[in-house]
Amino acid sequence: MTTPYVSNLPDLRKIISQWREKGESIAVVPTMGALHAGHLSLVSHANSLCDRTIATIFVNPAQFAPDEDFGAYPRTFDTDLAKLHAHACDLVWAPNPEAMYPGNFATYITPQGAANSLETEFRKDFFRGVATVCCKLFLQTQADVAVFGEKDYQQLCVIKQMVRDLNLPIRIDGRPTIRETDGLAMSSRNAYLSNSDRAIAVSLYRGLEALARAVRDGKDIAQCEAQETQNLLQSGFRTVDYLTVRDATTLQPPATDMPANRLRVLGAAWLGKTRLIDNIACG
Ligand code: AMP
Repeated sequence: MTTPYVSNLPDLRKIISQWREKGESIAVVPTMGALHAGHLSLVSHANSLCDRTIATIFVNPAQFAPDEDFGAYPRTFDTDLAKLHAHACDLVWAPNPEAMYPGNFATYITPQGAANSLETEFRKDFFRGVATVCCKLFLQTQADVAVFGEKDYQQLCVIKQMVRDLNLPIRIDGRPTIRETDGLAMSSRNAYLSNSDRAIAVSLYRGLEALARAVRDGKDIAQCEAQETQNLLQSGFRTVDYLTVRDATTLQPPATDMPANRLRVLGAAWLGKTRLIDNIACG
């Protein structure tokens, strides 16, 4: 058995209006597919919040730079539908490209604030693509709540900010990262890792943990960031884009004497051709 899906807007609207006529509430879980236990935990949580859960599956071209992995991104649609059915998801919105980016599409959302640092230094238009597609998904599904993972912590901050700034009538709920038993954050991109890279990959999480511990112990943050970056390179990572402690709300470098519970450690690093990101709370 699989969860039913729709791919064009009139079909989606018909189902949503039937639900709304019955007074049912709707939660949405935006994804790019290749679903794993992390995504499915969001679906289960969405089920607990609302009468109906919509998962969206759309590999969004607007958030990939020309040299990134849009073409290679794993696509496992049929398996995804079966997993979603097993997690009691009511409907999949898998828009065809024309529904998302009709010819001559020309209206983008360009978030600033939380979007200005970290990922944007390495993926210039990434959050413009993410904010635009999420805004469209919120309007299309007319959901009451959208559930996102803390795995993409900066994305969660950017989306919350967009919803607040634009008065979008939706609540954003952030959920904890689901990890493999060794601590590696689950990610669709882990499918790219060779066995030997998979063994190294957990070092990113260990680096984040070491940095969070150092902050709690009151050590010099800049020195510890440099040390943990070095450790990551020595463990086999090719490049470290960032491994850093930030104000958990603004994502700016922390003010002096900020308590650990207001800080977040975030990292992005390359293992061969695979870019992994992860983050944890400090306190
Ligand atoms: P993606 O399909 O990678 O765009 O992710 C879709 C949603 O799933 C986003 O809100 C992610 O933050 C969330 N997500 C991805 N990996 C995990 C994970 N390991 N644990 C919890 N949520 C996750």
